[in-house]
Amino acid sequence: MIKIGEQVVIKNVRKVYRVGSEKVVALDDVSFSIDEGEVCCFLGTSGSGKSTLLNLLAGLEKPTSGTIEINGKVISKMNEKKISKFRQKHIGFIFQSYNLLPALTAVENVALPLTFRGITKSSRIKRSKDQLKKVGLGKHLKHKPTQMSGGQQQRVGIARAFVSNPEIVFADEPTGNLDSKTTKEIMGMMMEFVRENNRTMILVTHDKTIAEYADKVVYILDGNIVKIEENRNGRNTKDETQ
Ligand code: ADP
Ligand code: MG
Repeated sequence: MIKIGEQVVIKNVRKVYRVGSEKVVALDDVSFSIDEGEVCCFLGTSGSGKSTLLNLLAGLEKPTSGTIEINGKVISKMNEKKISKFRQKHIGFIFQSYNLLPALTAVENVALPLTFRGITKSSRIKRSKDQLKKVGLGKHLKHKPTQMSGGQQQRVGIARAFVSNPEIVFADEPTGNLDSKTTKEIMGMMMEFVRENNRTMILVTHDKTIAEYADKVVYILDGNIVKIEENRNGRNTKDETQ
């Protein structure tokens, strides 16, 4: 049962990988929830299980046991076809290494998530151009990934994640390959989009300064949650001044 406001509910989730005869417990026993419109950050050192958890929540992998509910739907039980439809409809994803298709232009990369949605080609192109203008790349519409800086490529990645107006955006170390100035720009841009549209964002990082953008910080160590901190700055601070 989902409580009002809860959008993502994780119950007793465990993920064990088998490598040869070895078992790797990536997630031991994880339970918590994320509210609609919340920015939630998973913080932990390398190998602690952050990406595994994010991939399970985004439906890219299945838990070994436990359940994951999004919008009241148990996604951990869906078959491939259902889950990929669910992802197309509700989820955007931003990667550390951008994951843009090298042969495609910025516009074509951003238009991709709209392909299977019954939207005409001309309106897909129009929407992706508009989204690229919003991320400040109006003059780079025809550029291919190799013709752009890391920061510009990640702006394309952000445009692609937000173009379909998903309810939840996932980001795995989105600024991991960027310098500190570009990191601030990229984080600021993602937060602006999320707050403007009251979207939910789930973010993975090993960097405490990135975690400061979040409403909720979930500390992960060796496949377990060790601490959850709520609302230390960001939204609450802003709300109080309104
Ligand atoms: P983080 O993102 O916090 O660095 P990961 O979730 O990637 O951590 O990994 C958690 C643990 O699970 C690590 O010990 C890692 O080696 C292991 N792991 C992750 N993915 C796989 C996989 N596909 N096969 C085997 N082991 C994996
Ligand atoms: Mg990782």
